[in-house]
Amino acid sequence: MQYFDISVPITNEMTVWPKDPKVILKRVQKIETGDNANVSHLQAGVHTGTHVDAPYHFLQNGKTVEALRLDVLNGRAYVLHLPESVDVVDAKIFAKFNFPPHTQRLLIKTRNSNIWNNKPNEFDTTFVGISADGAEELVKRGVKLIGIDYLSVAPYKQSRPTHEILLGAELIILEGLDLSKVTQGYYTLHCLPLKLMGADGAPARAILVKR
Ligand SMILES: [Zn+2]
Repeated sequence: MQYFDISVPITNEMTVWPKDPKVILKRVQKIETGDNANVSHLQAGVHTGTHVDAPYHFLQNGKTVEALRLDVLNGRAYVLHLPESVDVVDAKIFAKFNFPPHTQRLLIKTRNSNIWNNKPNEFDTTFVGISADGAEELVKRGVKLIGIDYLSVAPYKQSRPTHEILLGAELIILEGLDLSKVTQGYYTLHCLPLKLMGADGAPARAILVKR
């Protein structure tokens, strides 16, 4: 079996969504200065790096992150690799670059995955996202979890329509993936978001396993 870590590293320098809190990860107890152990302090937004969105992120009465279904977060997943020329993932893209019927967990690999390896510390507004009609197509086709390889599932400055459609249909949104090391095809996804009670999202470790 092959294991692929599709989570991005969490560092003090990493980019976060504009206006979201920056990551602070620092040691506050140090063996070298006489403490009994090394202990670090972590401060971060819940949409830091690889993370899930809960319906409450965009829907005031939506479910919060601890209520997301583990059986949806874990299981067979299909990675769809779109060419670098794709700027926006709309319904027409899914007609041209099809994914198999009955796909419940779909991870979309775009040119975004290069950003994590080339400039992880700079926010890139030109990332590829899913349009509102692309989101409607996913709902129509019965997808239960949608993953993408940058910090939002929607194109920049067009967050609300796509998120509302997906979260309104209770799809789980997995953002901030690094899919640069995986090719198109089937894998087993393991995704375990932190159990942050009442939160609108949570950082997650996500891996793909190929048999
Ligand atoms: Zn998010």
